Amino acid sequence: GTIRTLESPQGAWVQIGGKKYLNLCSNNYLGLCNDPRVVAKVKEYTGKFGVGPGAVRTIAGTMTPHIELEEKLAAFKGTEAAIVVSSGFAANLTVIPTLAGGADDVIFSDSLNHASIIDACRLSRARVVRYEHSDMQDLAKKLGENRDVKGRRLLITDGVFSMDGDIAKLPEIVELCEAHGVIVAVDDAHGEGVLGRGGRGIADHFGLHGRVDVEIGTMSKAFGVMGGMAAGSAILVDYLRQKARPNLFSSALTIPDVAANIASVEILQESEDLVKKLWANGNLLKKELASLGFDTGASETPITPVIIGEAADAKAFSAKLFERGVFATAIVFPTVPRGTARIRAMVSAAHSEDDLRFGVGQFAAVGREMGIIS
Ligand SMILES: *Cc1c(COP(=O)(O)O)cnc(C)c1O
Repeated sequence: GTIRTLESPQGAWVQIGGKKYLNLCSNNYLGLCNDPRVVAKVKEYTGKFGVGPGAVRTIAGTMTPHIELEEKLAAFKGTEAAIVVSSGFAANLTVIPTLAGGADDVIFSDSLNHASIIDACRLSRARVVRYEHSDMQDLAKKLGENRDVKGRRLLITDGVFSMDGDIAKLPEIVELCEAHGVIVAVDDAHGEGVLGRGGRGIADHFGLHGRVDVEIGTMSKAFGVMGGMAAGSAILVDYLRQKARPNLFSSALTIPDVAANIASVEILQESEDLVKKLWANGNLLKKELASLGFDTGASETPITPVIIGEAADAKAFSAKLFERGVFATAIVFPTVPRGTARIRAMVSAAHSEDDLRFGVGQFAAVGREMGIIS
């Protein structure tokens, strides 16, 4: 498809080709991408520390802002420690091959896990056992079948599945894994800043503090910046620091990224308002679209899929929305199964109720024009 170029900051509205569009497709859940407090922190820290880290963390790239960010993230998540790497993608490469990297090791992986998890599993030399998406019977069966393996066993799941907005059944997963002595890792990319008290993530959402071995996260979504993290016990995080190849062989995160992330965690620590606004907006959009007759799937989060069916129809729908001032991309096979092509509407705390009502009006008009709703 067409890749649009934004001529403005990421926000509720964006400029493309000189015109304004309602933005319903970014992961900027809390509107922090262009928050003045975040921008100010970047100016302050670049004034003091410059821009580049100049080295990998283990040689000369660890600067006081990196430590400050890691301490703030661990305090926010309620874990003993956290390590920061360059992206969420790199965070999976940091955790998965390091914890399950031997030929005798086994990784249990949800069939709908994110591409970066799939790649990290491939890069480890472990045997990968896929279980059906969120199917706890299938998981229990596969854990049982692999009870006697010699090596380490690791389970990895997305926290929030980004195409449908459903949440992993983490309480059941943790119980099963505890019974089988399997390490639990959850990639909370779409849950960080969204789920739990004040956006503390999926472990907090389910009250599973101390029972999830590693929480993997990204700061490219709700945090509005860039960077990945892994949070857990001090021993585990220290092990990752010493062994994980993205930490040993890829340079430290830049100062502007680190500073912006520090500001974002501080904003989240101070108040739950943005997270509450995000959920209120998500609930409003879902309710309005469903009452018009659209199929909005079974999302449990602010992610709002509008399932159209055929790929060509979803693309036409997106193009017609664009003509009407709404930027919302179509998602088609192979990202989602055939016949379930959709517009995935992403709200943010930055949207006003009027913004969303404008968007709903355009969805209604295009839906009627295409005969999808009556
Ligand atoms: C977006 C996403 C990532 C990648 O994060 P980046 O910081 O953009 O590299 C990893 N895992 C999941 C589940 C994601 O949704």
